[in-house]
Amino acid sequence: MGGKNIVFMGPPGAGKGTQAKILTEKLNVPQLSTGDILRASKAAGKLAPELIKAMDSGGLVPDEVVIGLIDDRMQQPDAVNGALFDGFPRTVVQAEALNAMLSKRGKRIDVAIAIEVDPSLLIERTVLRRTDKRTGQIYHLKYNPPPPDAELVHRADDTEVAVKKRLDAYARDTSAVIPFYEKEGVLKRVDGVGDVGEVTKRIFAALGV
Ligand code: ADP
Ligand code: AMP
Repeated sequence: MGGKNIVFMGPPGAGKGTQAKILTEKLNVPQLSTGDILRASKAAGKLAPELIKAMDSGGLVPDEVVIGLIDDRMQQPDAVNGALFDGFPRTVVQAEALNAMLSKRGKRIDVAIAIEVDPSLLIERTVLRRTDKRTGQIYHLKYNPPPPDAELVHRADDTEVAVKKRLDAYARDTSAVIPFYEKEGVLKRVDGVGDVGEVTKRIFAALGV
């Protein structure tokens, strides 16, 4: 199924990044995560202070900023045949912009996967998330413990206060992207609770691969 354009949606902690990293190898398309791009830009000292503030406190960064990042990223050679969009679009304005960018290239979103997880599980999933800064591998202190030699980072927005704000932003701005793709006839809902491997199987089934 190479060459498809796939969107991963779901609240913070749903497992988008974890599943995207597994699927991207099997589907032979790159993972385009606006969160990862923004964090890399912050780590390189290139992100404007007001954007750092918005991210770290759990707010969204402005639509035009992330649309510009995705537009640039889609022009890189590895993304011309398809991509797995993770954490983008997060508003209907972004979803419309993505459709326009793809349509210029004669493409469309083929499948939008909504990973569903009960909200009561999301605080624990995010607050105990750790990432290995060398490999980008995502761990969980309880459900997917890191190896002893991992160089762990704890995201600045994975605090209970910031996660609550991110869940509010999801309910207010991002949840409307689900009916957007439902209307386009490309939405698939996947239960995100269970073993990581089990969730991967459900996503493959939803993608028909
Ligand atoms: P998202 O990208 O949607 O914010 P992540 O993929 O980073 O979510 O996952 C959030 C946290 O939950 C991570 O610590 C990850 O290890 C853990 N996690 C991911 N999938 C599962 C799962 N199926 N069961 C339990 N924990 C999971
Ligand atoms: P994520 O890694 O997807 O959880 O994103 C981390 C943070 O980056 C979010 O809480 C936002 O502040 C910002 N961000 C990432 N993607 C977007 C987006 N598509 N629109 C607006 N803000 C975003």
